[in-house]
Amino acid sequence: RSKRRGRGQITVYSSEIAQEMRRSTQLEQALRNAIISDNVDVHFQPIVNLADGRVKGFEALARWIDPDLGFVSPAVFVPLAEERGFIDMLSETLLRKAAEATLAWPRDLFLSFNLSSAQLMDPRTTYNTLSILNSVGFDPRRLELEITETAVMTSADTAARIINELRELGIRISLDDFGTGQSSLGRLRDFTFDKVKIDRAFVSAIMTDRTSEHIIKAIVTMCEGLDLAVVAEGIETAAEAKKLRDLGCGMGQGYYFGKPMDQAATLRYLHDHYHEFAMLDRERLGATGPRVDHDT
Ligand code: C2E
Ligand code: MG
Ligand code: MG
Ligand code: MG
Repeated sequence: RSKRRGRGQITVYSSEIAQEMRRSTQLEQALRNAIISDNVDVHFQPIVNLADGRVKGFEALARWIDPDLGFVSPAVFVPLAEERGFIDMLSETLLRKAAEATLAWPRDLFLSFNLSSAQLMDPRTTYNTLSILNSVGFDPRRLELEITETAVMTSADTAARIINELRELGIRISLDDFGTGQSSLGRLRDFTFDKVKIDRAFVSAIMTDRTSEHIIKAIVTMCEGLDLAVVAEGIETAAEAKKLRDLGCGMGQGYYFGKPMDQAATLRYLHDHYHEFAMLDRERLGATGPRVDHDT
């Protein structure tokens, strides 16, 4: 009797697997088509200085709305592209778009771009990244690449080599989702980073949970000692922003400062939040207003 139930379960289970495989193959095909027909987009979320609220740069985030499937999260389609072996194609398209968009921003703003773990194991990543930046005319010193602890730990030797190559080009490296990965702090000694992004899980618990507060405090202290910049991810309220600033966290990112926006909305955001940019733009558009004429 139990055997029959067992067999029944196996049948159900395998048909679920078959269904899941059909679904992900359909998703894969739709995603490949979307990349080829230029329907995968990139949005930008501001990263600000917590002390004065000034925008320092933006993180590029992949966006895909399929006509049949609707909104598909990058947390779903990025891993799918990795699994099916076309993450380089997806990532190159996204980096090119992001770098091109960034050219319209003030030059002192950085672009932060997520590198997938597969790319951190692929020796061609440095060359591919550089050729895209060159063809767009993008200064590598404006680029930050976000990588995760897990990616670094999975293929440590290759990852360390790629990180060093990228840093030699002037590209900075951010450790994303810090505190949630499977690294040991000791192993992090083998890698050189420029910035740490504290995961949203700690940030969203900070007002209610003393443990998260202590963890953030410890990360900030560690980063000060190692001369690393710190960004808190997922800040949603003014109270969280203030608390993080008081804990010594230098930069912040989250819905409180701005949600991910398309390029047009990003330019409007800069207009409203980046004084010098608004001035420049007014001049370019020939708008009237007080203006110093240096020629006479
Ligand atoms: P991530 O790199 O940690 O990106 C931050 C995620 O947190 C984004 O989700 C962002 O929209 C979300 N977020 C930012 N502020 C807040 C907030 O205040 N509250 C809440 N609830 N969420 C906030 P998103 O865009 O869905 O991306 C999810 C993940 O997908 C990213 O996590 C990243 O790992 C991956 N991803 C996104 N775009 C790319 C890409 O172009 N390439 C690669 N390789 N991965 C990407
Ligand atoms: Mg990120
Ligand atoms: Mg993150
Ligand atoms: Mg995250």
